[in-house]
Amino acid sequence: MLGDINSIMDFGKQAQYLRETDQSAYCLLKRIFKFDSQIGYQVIPDSFQKKVLDYFGRRDASGNIIEPLEEVVERIEKQKIIKITNRWTGESTLFNSLRADRPGIKGADLEKEKKYVLQLIQKSEEGCDFCQAEKYTPEDVFGRIKGKYSITAANIAKYDVWSSLVIFKDHNPLNFSLDEFDDYLKTSFTWFEAVYNHHPQFIFPFFIWNCMPRAGASQIHGHCQMLMSKEPYGGVETLMKAGHDYKKKVGADYFNDLYQVHHSLGLSHENEDTHFFANITPLKEKEVVIISKNPFKDFQSKKTIFKILRCFIDVMGVFSFNLSISCPSLNKKEKFPYIIRIVDRGSLLKSTADMGGMELYGSSVVADDPYKIINILKDVF
Ligand SMILES: [Zn+2]
Repeated sequence: MLGDINSIMDFGKQAQYLRETDQSAYCLLKRIFKFDSQIGYQVIPDSFQKKVLDYFGRRDASGNIIEPLEEVVERIEKQKIIKITNRWTGESTLFNSLRADRPGIKGADLEKEKKYVLQLIQKSEEGCDFCQAEKYTPEDVFGRIKGKYSITAANIAKYDVWSSLVIFKDHNPLNFSLDEFDDYLKTSFTWFEAVYNHHPQFIFPFFIWNCMPRAGASQIHGHCQMLMSKEPYGGVETLMKAGHDYKKKVGADYFNDLYQVHHSLGLSHENEDTHFFANITPLKEKEVVIISKNPFKDFQSKKTIFKILRCFIDVMGVFSFNLSISCPSLNKKEKFPYIIRIVDRGSLLKSTADMGGMELYGSSVVADDPYKIINILKDVF
Protein backbone atom coordinates (compact mmCIF):
# COMPACT_ATOMS: atom_id res chain seq x y z
CA MET A 1 0.00 0.00 0.00
CA LEU A 2 1.12 3.53 -0.73
CA GLY A 3 1.75 4.69 2.84
CA ASP A 4 0.81 8.35 2.72
CA ILE A 5 -2.23 7.84 0.51
CA ASN A 6 -5.25 7.19 2.59
CA SER A 7 -8.17 8.20 0.47
CA ILE A 8 -10.25 6.60 -2.24
CA MET A 9 -9.89 9.90 -4.13
CA ASP A 10 -6.24 8.97 -4.71
CA PHE A 11 -7.19 5.60 -6.17
CA GLY A 12 -5.39 6.37 -9.44
CA LYS A 13 -2.12 7.04 -7.58
CA GLN A 14 -2.63 3.93 -5.50
CA ALA A 15 -3.07 1.81 -8.64
CA GLN A 16 -0.01 3.43 -10.22
CA TYR A 17 2.01 2.68 -7.12
CA LEU A 18 0.94 -0.97 -7.27
CA ARG A 19 1.88 -1.10 -10.94
CA GLU A 20 5.40 0.07 -10.10
CA THR A 21 5.99 -1.96 -6.97
CA ASP A 22 3.85 -5.10 -7.18
CA GLN A 23 3.03 -6.25 -10.70
CA SER A 24 1.03 -9.29 -9.64
CA ALA A 25 -1.17 -7.26 -7.29
CA TYR A 26 -1.70 -4.72 -10.07
CA CYS A 27 -2.67 -7.49 -12.52
CA LEU A 28 -5.14 -8.86 -10.02
CA LEU A 29 -6.64 -5.40 -9.54
CA LYS A 30 -7.03 -4.97 -13.31
CA ARG A 31 -8.41 -8.47 -13.68
CA ILE A 32 -11.26 -7.81 -11.29
CA PHE A 33 -11.86 -4.06 -11.58
CA LYS A 34 -12.08 -1.28 -14.16
CA PHE A 35 -11.41 2.19 -12.82
CA ASP A 36 -11.17 5.75 -14.01
CA SER A 37 -10.44 9.11 -12.42
CA GLN A 38 -11.64 12.33 -14.05
CA ILE A 39 -12.46 15.93 -13.20
CA GLY A 40 -15.99 17.22 -13.70
CA TYR A 41 -15.92 20.98 -14.40
CA GLN A 42 -18.58 23.63 -13.87
CA VAL A 43 -18.78 27.39 -13.48
CA ILE A 44 -20.18 29.19 -10.43
CA PRO A 45 -21.55 32.64 -11.37
CA ASP A 46 -20.45 35.51 -9.11
CA SER A 47 -24.02 35.94 -7.89
CA PHE A 48 -24.00 32.38 -6.50
CA GLN A 49 -20.57 32.42 -4.82
CA LYS A 50 -21.69 33.62 -1.38
CA LYS A 51 -24.32 30.90 -1.18
CA VAL A 52 -21.80 28.28 -2.28
CA LEU A 53 -19.45 29.43 0.48
CA ASP A 54 -22.27 29.09 2.96
CA TYR A 55 -23.27 25.62 1.69
CA PHE A 56 -19.82 24.10 1.31
CA GLY A 57 -17.23 26.20 3.18
CA ARG A 58 -15.31 24.28 5.84
CA ARG A 59 -16.21 25.41 9.34
CA ASP A 60 -14.56 25.33 12.75
CA ALA A 61 -16.16 23.80 15.82
CA SER A 62 -18.26 26.90 16.50
CA GLY A 63 -19.58 26.96 12.95
CA ASN A 64 -17.50 29.80 11.50
CA ILE A 65 -16.33 29.37 7.93
CA ILE A 66 -12.54 29.03 7.91
CA GLU A 67 -11.95 28.46 4.20
CA PRO A 68 -11.28 31.30 1.74
CA LEU A 69 -14.01 31.88 -0.85
CA GLU A 70 -11.70 31.16 -3.84
CA GLU A 71 -10.78 27.74 -2.45
CA VAL A 72 -14.39 26.75 -1.90
CA VAL A 73 -15.40 27.90 -5.39
CA GLU A 74 -12.45 26.00 -6.88
CA ARG A 75 -13.49 22.82 -5.05
CA ILE A 76 -16.99 23.11 -6.46
CA GLU A 77 -15.87 24.07 -9.95
CA LYS A 78 -13.47 21.12 -10.24
CA GLN A 79 -14.85 17.92 -8.78
CA LYS A 80 -12.83 14.75 -8.91
CA ILE A 81 -14.83 11.65 -9.73
CA ILE A 82 -13.54 8.11 -9.21
CA LYS A 83 -15.44 5.38 -10.97
CA ILE A 84 -14.80 1.75 -10.10
CA THR A 85 -16.55 -1.25 -11.68
CA ASN A 86 -16.31 -4.91 -10.81
CA ARG A 87 -15.91 -6.72 -14.14
CA TRP A 88 -17.36 -9.97 -12.77
CA THR A 89 -20.42 -8.81 -10.91
CA GLY A 90 -21.13 -5.60 -12.82
CA GLU A 91 -21.32 -3.65 -9.53
CA SER A 92 -20.09 -0.09 -9.98
CA THR A 93 -19.59 2.87 -7.70
CA LEU A 94 -18.93 6.57 -8.18
CA PHE A 95 -16.98 8.49 -5.55
CA ASN A 96 -17.02 12.28 -5.69
CA SER A 97 -14.34 14.39 -3.98
CA LEU A 98 -16.91 16.91 -2.84
CA ARG A 99 -19.10 14.29 -1.20
CA ALA A 100 -16.16 12.35 0.22
CA ASP A 101 -14.83 15.62 1.65
CA ARG A 102 -17.89 16.28 3.73
CA PRO A 103 -17.22 16.14 7.43
CA GLY A 104 -18.59 12.98 9.07
CA ILE A 105 -21.46 13.12 11.52
CA LYS A 106 -20.62 15.94 13.88
CA GLY A 107 -20.67 15.29 17.62
CA ALA A 108 -23.76 17.40 18.19
CA ASP A 109 -25.71 15.74 15.33
CA LEU A 110 -24.74 12.30 16.55
CA GLU A 111 -25.97 13.08 20.06
CA LYS A 112 -29.22 14.40 18.61
CA GLU A 113 -29.70 11.28 16.54
CA LYS A 114 -28.86 8.98 19.46
CA LYS A 115 -31.50 10.71 21.58
CA TYR A 116 -34.04 10.48 18.78
CA VAL A 117 -33.32 6.77 18.18
CA LEU A 118 -33.63 5.97 21.87
CA GLN A 119 -36.99 7.75 22.06
CA LEU A 120 -38.20 5.99 18.93
CA ILE A 121 -37.26 2.60 20.38
CA GLN A 122 -38.86 3.35 23.74
CA LYS A 123 -42.06 4.64 22.18
CA SER A 124 -42.41 1.59 19.92
CA GLU A 125 -42.29 -0.77 22.90
CA GLU A 126 -45.85 0.09 23.83
CA GLY A 127 -48.22 -2.43 22.25
CA CYS A 128 -45.32 -4.15 20.43
CA ASP A 129 -46.47 -7.51 19.02
CA PHE A 130 -42.92 -8.88 18.86
CA CYS A 131 -42.51 -8.36 22.64
CA GLN A 132 -45.14 -11.12 22.94
CA ALA A 133 -44.15 -13.06 19.84
CA GLU A 134 -45.85 -16.33 20.80
CA LYS A 135 -49.16 -14.54 21.23
CA TYR A 136 -49.08 -12.04 18.40
CA THR A 137 -47.11 -13.54 15.51
CA PRO A 138 -47.90 -16.48 13.21
CA GLU A 139 -45.85 -19.65 13.53
CA ASP A 140 -44.46 -21.97 10.90
CA VAL A 141 -46.27 -25.22 10.15
CA PHE A 142 -43.55 -27.12 12.01
CA GLY A 143 -43.81 -24.81 15.02
CA ARG A 144 -41.28 -22.38 16.46
CA ILE A 145 -37.55 -22.67 17.04
CA LYS A 146 -36.70 -21.32 20.46
CA GLY A 147 -33.25 -20.07 21.38
CA LYS A 148 -32.05 -18.60 24.66
CA TYR A 149 -32.49 -15.02 23.44
CA SER A 150 -34.67 -15.44 20.37
CA ILE A 151 -37.67 -17.19 18.89
CA THR A 152 -38.84 -17.75 15.32
CA ALA A 153 -42.12 -16.66 13.77
CA ALA A 154 -43.51 -16.95 10.27
CA ASN A 155 -43.54 -13.68 8.35
CA ILE A 156 -47.16 -12.54 8.33
CA ALA A 157 -46.70 -11.10 4.81
CA LYS A 158 -44.29 -13.59 3.31
CA TYR A 159 -41.54 -12.49 0.90
CA ASP A 160 -41.46 -16.02 -0.48
CA VAL A 161 -42.76 -19.54 0.21
CA TRP A 162 -40.37 -19.96 3.16
CA SER A 163 -40.00 -16.58 4.78
CA SER A 164 -39.79 -16.25 8.55
CA LEU A 165 -38.34 -14.11 11.30
CA VAL A 166 -35.97 -14.62 14.15
CA ILE A 167 -37.28 -12.29 16.84
CA PHE A 168 -34.96 -11.09 19.60
CA LYS A 169 -36.08 -11.27 23.25
CA ASP A 170 -34.82 -7.71 23.64
CA HIS A 171 -37.07 -5.10 22.09
CA ASN A 172 -34.13 -2.76 21.43
CA PRO A 173 -32.51 -3.90 18.15
CA LEU A 174 -29.26 -2.06 18.86
CA ASN A 175 -28.69 -3.54 22.27
CA PHE A 176 -27.22 -7.00 21.67
CA SER A 177 -24.27 -8.81 23.24
CA LEU A 178 -22.07 -11.44 21.60
CA ASP A 179 -24.01 -14.17 23.43
CA GLU A 180 -27.28 -12.81 22.09
CA PHE A 181 -25.96 -12.39 18.54
CA ASP A 182 -24.58 -15.94 18.68
CA ASP A 183 -28.02 -17.15 19.70
CA TYR A 184 -29.83 -15.27 16.89
CA LEU A 185 -27.61 -16.98 14.31
CA LYS A 186 -27.88 -20.41 15.95
CA THR A 187 -31.66 -20.17 16.05
CA SER A 188 -31.69 -19.09 12.40
CA PHE A 189 -29.58 -22.03 11.28
CA THR A 190 -31.83 -24.44 13.18
CA TRP A 191 -34.75 -22.90 11.29
CA PHE A 192 -32.94 -23.40 7.93
CA GLU A 193 -32.43 -27.07 8.81
CA ALA A 194 -36.03 -27.43 9.94
CA VAL A 195 -37.28 -26.09 6.59
CA TYR A 196 -34.89 -28.38 4.74
CA ASN A 197 -36.14 -31.39 6.68
CA HIS A 198 -39.72 -30.41 6.11
CA HIS A 199 -39.40 -29.42 2.46
CA PRO A 200 -36.08 -30.79 1.05
CA GLN A 201 -36.37 -29.03 -2.31
CA PHE A 202 -35.70 -25.76 -0.51
CA ILE A 203 -31.94 -25.77 -0.09
CA PHE A 204 -30.66 -22.17 -0.26
CA PRO A 205 -30.68 -20.25 3.02
CA PHE A 206 -30.64 -16.46 2.91
CA PHE A 207 -30.43 -14.20 5.93
CA ILE A 208 -31.05 -10.48 6.19
CA TRP A 209 -31.20 -8.01 8.99
CA ASN A 210 -32.98 -4.76 8.17
CA CYS A 211 -32.33 -2.68 11.26
CA MET A 212 -34.73 0.22 11.83
CA PRO A 213 -37.31 1.65 9.39
CA ARG A 214 -34.74 3.48 7.23
CA ALA A 215 -33.29 0.07 6.39
CA GLY A 216 -36.71 -1.38 5.50
CA ALA A 217 -37.87 -2.77 8.86
CA SER A 218 -41.60 -2.41 9.52
CA GLN A 219 -41.12 -3.24 13.21
CA ILE A 220 -38.53 -1.57 15.41
CA HIS A 221 -38.33 -4.59 17.75
CA GLY A 222 -35.11 -6.49 17.03
CA HIS A 223 -35.60 -9.14 14.37
CA CYS A 224 -33.98 -10.60 11.24
CA GLN A 225 -35.42 -12.26 8.15
CA MET A 226 -34.71 -15.87 7.24
CA LEU A 227 -35.52 -17.34 3.84
CA MET A 228 -35.12 -20.68 2.13
CA SER A 229 -35.43 -21.04 -1.63
CA LYS A 230 -35.06 -23.69 -4.32
CA GLU A 231 -32.70 -21.50 -6.34
CA PRO A 232 -30.42 -18.78 -4.98
CA TYR A 233 -31.88 -15.26 -5.15
CA GLY A 234 -30.68 -13.01 -7.98
CA GLY A 235 -28.14 -11.13 -5.87
CA VAL A 236 -26.64 -14.34 -4.53
CA GLU A 237 -26.64 -15.93 -7.96
CA THR A 238 -24.63 -12.98 -9.34
CA LEU A 239 -21.95 -13.67 -6.73
CA MET A 240 -21.99 -17.41 -7.41
CA LYS A 241 -21.80 -16.82 -11.14
CA ALA A 242 -18.85 -14.44 -10.67
CA GLY A 243 -17.07 -17.16 -8.70
CA HIS A 244 -17.90 -19.79 -11.29
CA ASP A 245 -16.92 -17.69 -14.35
CA TYR A 246 -13.71 -16.56 -12.69
CA LYS A 247 -12.69 -20.12 -11.89
CA LYS A 248 -13.41 -21.16 -15.46
CA LYS A 249 -11.57 -18.29 -17.14
CA VAL A 250 -8.78 -17.52 -14.69
CA GLY A 251 -8.45 -20.82 -12.86
CA ALA A 252 -8.36 -19.17 -9.43
CA ASP A 253 -10.71 -18.55 -6.54
CA TYR A 254 -12.61 -15.30 -7.14
CA PHE A 255 -13.40 -14.54 -3.50
CA ASN A 256 -9.82 -15.12 -2.43
CA ASP A 257 -8.54 -12.85 -5.22
CA LEU A 258 -11.16 -10.22 -4.40
CA TYR A 259 -9.86 -10.20 -0.84
CA GLN A 260 -6.24 -10.08 -2.06
CA VAL A 261 -6.95 -7.00 -4.18
CA HIS A 262 -8.40 -5.17 -1.18
CA HIS A 263 -5.49 -6.40 0.91
CA SER A 264 -2.92 -4.97 -1.50
CA LEU A 265 -4.83 -1.66 -1.47
CA GLY A 266 -4.67 -1.53 2.35
CA LEU A 267 -8.42 -1.99 2.67
CA SER A 268 -8.60 -5.35 4.40
CA HIS A 269 -8.18 -6.86 7.80
CA GLU A 270 -8.45 -10.30 9.31
CA ASN A 271 -9.54 -11.67 12.64
CA GLU A 272 -8.22 -15.21 13.13
CA ASP A 273 -9.19 -16.80 9.81
CA THR A 274 -12.13 -14.51 9.01
CA HIS A 275 -11.25 -11.95 6.35
CA PHE A 276 -13.04 -8.71 5.73
CA PHE A 277 -12.58 -5.59 3.64
CA ALA A 278 -14.05 -2.16 2.96
CA ASN A 279 -15.47 -2.68 -0.52
CA ILE A 280 -14.18 -0.46 -3.37
CA THR A 281 -17.50 -0.97 -5.17
CA PRO A 282 -19.80 -0.47 -2.18
CA LEU A 283 -23.52 -0.71 -2.81
CA LYS A 284 -23.98 2.22 -0.46
CA GLU A 285 -22.25 3.94 2.44
CA LYS A 286 -19.58 2.12 4.50
CA GLU A 287 -20.08 -1.28 2.92
CA VAL A 288 -17.99 -3.97 4.56
CA VAL A 289 -17.70 -7.48 3.12
CA ILE A 290 -16.80 -10.47 5.27
CA ILE A 291 -15.81 -13.79 3.73
CA SER A 292 -16.24 -16.57 6.21
CA LYS A 293 -16.62 -20.21 7.00
CA ASN A 294 -20.12 -20.89 8.23
CA PRO A 295 -20.94 -17.82 10.37
CA PHE A 296 -23.97 -19.64 11.79
CA LYS A 297 -21.70 -22.27 13.30
CA ASP A 298 -18.15 -20.91 13.44
CA PHE A 299 -17.77 -18.81 16.59
CA GLN A 300 -14.77 -16.83 15.31
CA SER A 301 -16.78 -15.66 12.29
CA LYS A 302 -19.66 -14.66 14.54
CA LYS A 303 -17.31 -12.73 16.78
CA THR A 304 -15.88 -10.86 13.78
CA ILE A 305 -19.31 -9.90 12.46
CA PHE A 306 -20.41 -8.94 15.97
CA LYS A 307 -17.38 -6.66 16.46
CA ILE A 308 -17.92 -4.98 13.08
CA LEU A 309 -21.61 -4.41 13.85
CA ARG A 310 -20.84 -3.03 17.31
CA CYS A 311 -18.24 -0.72 15.75
CA PHE A 312 -20.84 0.50 13.23
CA ILE A 313 -23.31 1.24 16.05
CA ASP A 314 -21.07 2.35 18.91
CA VAL A 315 -18.19 4.05 17.09
CA MET A 316 -19.54 5.20 13.72
CA GLY A 317 -23.04 6.02 14.99
CA VAL A 318 -24.83 3.81 12.43
CA PHE A 319 -28.32 2.98 13.68
CA SER A 320 -29.92 1.90 10.39
CA PHE A 321 -28.19 -0.86 8.50
CA ASN A 322 -28.74 -3.85 6.28
CA LEU A 323 -26.79 -7.02 6.84
CA SER A 324 -27.06 -9.94 4.45
CA ILE A 325 -25.61 -13.42 4.52
CA SER A 326 -25.38 -15.18 1.17
CA CYS A 327 -25.01 -18.89 1.75
CA PRO A 328 -24.07 -22.04 -0.16
CA SER A 329 -26.87 -24.58 -0.41
CA LEU A 330 -27.45 -26.90 2.53
CA ASN A 331 -26.50 -29.90 0.39
CA LYS A 332 -23.24 -28.07 -0.47
CA LYS A 333 -22.97 -29.10 -4.09
CA GLU A 334 -21.24 -25.86 -5.09
CA LYS A 335 -18.06 -24.34 -3.70
CA PHE A 336 -19.25 -21.02 -2.41
CA PRO A 337 -18.23 -19.27 0.79
CA TYR A 338 -20.57 -17.45 3.14
CA ILE A 339 -20.52 -13.77 2.16
CA ILE A 340 -21.67 -11.24 4.69
CA ARG A 341 -22.28 -7.65 3.61
CA ILE A 342 -23.14 -4.75 5.88
CA VAL A 343 -24.19 -1.33 4.69
CA ASP A 344 -25.13 1.93 6.46
CA ARG A 345 -28.54 3.32 5.46
CA GLY A 346 -28.04 6.81 6.80
CA SER A 347 -29.22 9.02 9.61
CA LEU A 348 -32.74 8.60 11.00
CA LEU A 349 -32.94 12.37 11.24
CA LYS A 350 -32.84 12.72 7.46
CA SER A 351 -36.06 12.79 5.53
CA THR A 352 -34.44 12.15 2.14
CA ALA A 353 -33.84 8.56 1.04
CA ASP A 354 -30.24 7.47 0.72
CA MET A 355 -30.92 5.72 -2.59
CA GLY A 356 -32.40 7.13 -5.74
CA GLY A 357 -32.70 6.27 -9.41
CA MET A 358 -28.93 6.11 -9.82
CA GLU A 359 -28.61 3.30 -7.28
CA LEU A 360 -31.68 1.47 -8.59
CA TYR A 361 -30.94 1.69 -12.29
CA GLY A 362 -27.45 3.13 -12.78
CA SER A 363 -24.53 3.07 -10.40
CA SER A 364 -24.07 3.56 -6.67
CA VAL A 365 -23.04 7.07 -5.67
CA VAL A 366 -21.13 6.91 -2.43
CA ALA A 367 -19.70 9.54 -0.09
CA ASP A 368 -17.96 7.52 2.62
CA ASP A 369 -14.35 6.69 1.92
CA PRO A 370 -13.52 2.97 2.30
CA TYR A 371 -10.12 3.98 3.73
CA LYS A 372 -11.79 5.83 6.60
CA ILE A 373 -14.00 2.82 7.32
CA ILE A 374 -11.21 0.24 7.38
CA ASN A 375 -9.08 2.46 9.63
CA ILE A 376 -11.90 2.81 12.15
CA LEU A 377 -12.48 -0.96 12.03
CA LYS A 378 -8.77 -1.80 12.41
CA ASP A 379 -8.79 0.17 15.66
CA VAL A 380 -11.38 -2.11 17.25
CA PHE A 381 -9.64 -5.38 16.30
ZN1 LIG B 1 -41.02 -5.24 21.17
